[in-house]
Amino acid sequence: MTAAVLQAQDLVKTYGHGQNGFTALHSVNLRIKAGESVAIVGKSGSGKSTLMHLLALLDAPTSGSVTVQGRDAQCLSARELNRVRNTMFGFVFQQFFLTPGQTVLENVVLPLTIAGVGRAERRRRGLAVLERLELAEKAGARATDLSGGQKQRVAIARALVNDPSVIFADEPTGNLDSATGAVVQDILFELHRDQGITVVIVTHDPELAARCDRQVRLRDGVIVDPVPSPVSVVSADQVIAGDPVERAEVPLGVSGGGR
Ligand code: ADP
Ligand code: MG
Repeated sequence: MTAAVLQAQDLVKTYGHGQNGFTALHSVNLRIKAGESVAIVGKSGSGKSTLMHLLALLDAPTSGSVTVQGRDAQCLSARELNRVRNTMFGFVFQQFFLTPGQTVLENVVLPLTIAGVGRAERRRRGLAVLERLELAEKAGARATDLSGGQKQRVAIARALVNDPSVIFADEPTGNLDSATGAVVQDILFELHRDQGITVVIVTHDPELAARCDRQVRLRDGVIVDPVPSPVSVVSADQVIAGDPVERAEVPLGVSGGGR
């Protein structure tokens, strides 16, 4: 059995307390193998971002555990947690989260700055990764002066600068037009293919999800198996055109969970 890079066991996440409490994840179990690409899909409010934040150690579960390369995250000190996040993981978010007043290069090397890497080495590695994303000529530009697609490429460069083994992307194409989104998708899958980076993508874009090795579907905080649909016994073309899984959700009459 290939080693799991990430493993979630009986994950529960409740926001708030008592009567105001809301359980966004109910006992989720998930194993992600090294080098896999996994899409976390489901309707808005189904718990996708919550699950990703827990897997990425950005938030702690109410109960259950997340294991990173065989180590239970609960047993890590705050310092070790930061180290794992900063050296093993790269993050790409829908809202880019670039610091507007800073240059592209300063934004890209932020994880190195946090890790205490020296200035010359930061610059060397930052420029190298910008080169790879064809953004070297923008190194000195302010992050605010870029287009959406360029901002997301800068965010990917920042995610890559530490040579992560896992990239977490939360709706990475959500704020981009479809052509620009396609470019960003291609970059992510190239990294996955060429460097064996494990990719965990939260998305409700069925095309993006379909490019991943595997889809994990959440409904109201629970992982559901892809529902077999009558469409699947017709022709392959119709199956592809009809997105049977999405359609099969409708007759079950499960209402969306908020937002
Ligand atoms: P998704 O990413 O699938 O849209 P989220 O994981 O963001 O869903 O949210 C799942 C549910 O948890 C939603 O009902 C949302 O309103 C709720 N939720 C998310 N974050 C918080 C929070 N910080 N406080 C309270 N409720 C939250
Ligand atoms: Mg979300």
